[in-house]
Amino acid sequence: MIVNNFVLGIAALLLSTAGLAADRIPVIASFSILGDLVSVVGGDRVAVSTLVGPDQDAHVFEPRPAGVKLVAQAKLFVVNGLGFEGWLDRLTRSADFKGVTVVASRGIQSRQMADEDHPSKLSSDPHAWQDPRNVIDYVRNIASALGEIDPAGAAYYQENSQHYVEALKLLDAWAAGQYATIPVAKRKLITSHDAFAYHAARYDIAFLAPQGVSTESEPSAKEMAKFIRQIKHEKIKAVFMENMSNPRLLEQLAKGADVIPSGKLYSDALSTADGPAPTYLKMMHYNVEQILSGLKQN
Ligand SMILES: [Zn+2]
Repeated sequence: MIVNNFVLGIAALLLSTAGLAADRIPVIASFSILGDLVSVVGGDRVAVSTLVGPDQDAHVFEPRPAGVKLVAQAKLFVVNGLGFEGWLDRLTRSADFKGVTVVASRGIQSRQMADEDHPSKLSSDPHAWQDPRNVIDYVRNIASALGEIDPAGAAYYQENSQHYVEALKLLDAWAAGQYATIPVAKRKLITSHDAFAYHAARYDIAFLAPQGVSTESEPSAKEMAKFIRQIKHEKIKAVFMENMSNPRLLEQLAKGADVIPSGKLYSDALSTADGPAPTYLKMMHYNVEQILSGLKQN
């Protein structure tokens, strides 16, 4: 009898340990910035995986079998939307994804521009996270979606997202205050691809880039030459690399315009854990400080 109780006790213990791991809701995020937001909102009720990792380029991402498997196992798939994940439909089909997909940018005021391939058509600029006020909507959308698939955690997700919204508001006010120290006429800088239009509009900064909103296409030699003339003419010294795009274009540009790159910005991906931008909040702090030091050289 004693032995039986002991065996039963062990079995119950094993079940509860297995239960804890199994209770975490498998969530997949399309890229590293969303992965961080889901971790913040989901806390210890979710197990988050990320498809496009730190320092990687989501524009030219090609899903591998391991990623397809993660999608197949997930209950919730968090994507940016606004055309950022051009590979999404193909991926969810090949994974035979049965879970819920949430578009984190749902409800934001998106920026429209002429489509690169079809100039007469308008398309959305996907880089909405570069304005912290948009990320308030991102985390609220993530919290609602998690609450729907896990009603027992709904209040917990709401509370986590509310705390984070406070941090986002502080970040935005801090950034606005920092940029206010630079005259608007001097707020001009160069990056490799056009990833900062939301940041530019929020803080009144002119970002110029030789590449469009996607890294898929490259500028012609003629376009590069014109761009170099513009940098020289406007005497722009603030020239930045990006963590997830090829530095070659920017190096060519800096050489042509005779300027030294001011540093690196994190545009479409976080850094790895040992880098300066392993979370969204740290990424934004780092970028603002880099941009400020670049603008001071203009
Ligand atoms: Zn981009």
